[in-house]
Amino acid sequence: MGSDQAQIAAQLLRAAHAVVALTGAGISTPSGIPDFRSPKSGLWEGVDPLTVASIYGFREHPQAFYDWIYPLTKLIVEAQPNPAHTALVTLENQGTLRGVITQNIDMLHTRAGSGCVKELHGQFREATCIHCFTVFPAAPIIEQFLQDHQVPHCPHCGNVLKPNVILFGEQLPIKPFMEAQDLARQADLMLVIGTSLEVAPASDLPMLALRNGAKMIIINLESTHLDNAATVVIHGNAAEVLPEILQQMEYIHEHDSQQ
Ligand code: NAD
Repeated sequence: MGSDQAQIAAQLLRAAHAVVALTGAGISTPSGIPDFRSPKSGLWEGVDPLTVASIYGFREHPQAFYDWIYPLTKLIVEAQPNPAHTALVTLENQGTLRGVITQNIDMLHTRAGSGCVKELHGQFREATCIHCFTVFPAAPIIEQFLQDHQVPHCPHCGNVLKPNVILFGEQLPIKPFMEAQDLARQADLMLVIGTSLEVAPASDLPMLALRNGAKMIIINLESTHLDNAATVVIHGNAAEVLPEILQQMEYIHEHDSQQ
């Protein structure tokens, strides 16, 4: 990583008053959870996404969905937040970061200690019956599923339970999405981390921030279609890049206070 870029990113963060982060699967790969688009992640290998991960497919063949999600569920349960998640908690505690908008379902931002997290694609904290819509805490359901591989059923009406993750063909949860739009509109600096920016409408949020005058820092292993619009682009591992930027912020702070 060019530390010049980390230094410019640190200066931007120190000068900003309303930083908002948009994160994707790439922030959690250092925690052992593969993303969807990197080759060899295996998540889509040998499966049709519209069969296993759409709401239509789920209603027809819930067992196919649960077979597909099994290895991801196991990884999510075992994963720990990494230094990139922790760096965002530090930025929030310093008063620099207003909130994290995430496409991830792994709950690692909240587990790391971030207070303001907008989970656009749902989460594994709860499960809902697709018939009577009763909502249940997901932890005991997941524990049972990891033991028996079986489709979980509603204790009230006996129908199928679905974890509260957003499948293809489903609406995004409206409240977190509207709150995310507000955060993006109010941001003067958007930090885009570990996302290919290929999944709309989450991928529209950086443009919303830019249109309202925000600057943008992108930290991603690969290029994205918005690299040209960013003030700083760092192609590197978020779990290394973010702690380095924080170190640079600390260095600038110490340097400034000595003068
Ligand atoms: P994506 O798979 O489309 O893109 C991930 C991006 O992160 C890639 O461009 C890759 O180059 C980059 N990346 C990978 N490791 C990185 C690292 N260590 N540091 C920096 N960059 C890294 O992911 P997306 O844009 O979030 O969209 C995929 C969809 O899949 C989302 O809807 C998300 O809900 C879902 N998903 C979530 C998880 C999770 O919760 N952890 C995991 C897989 C997929």
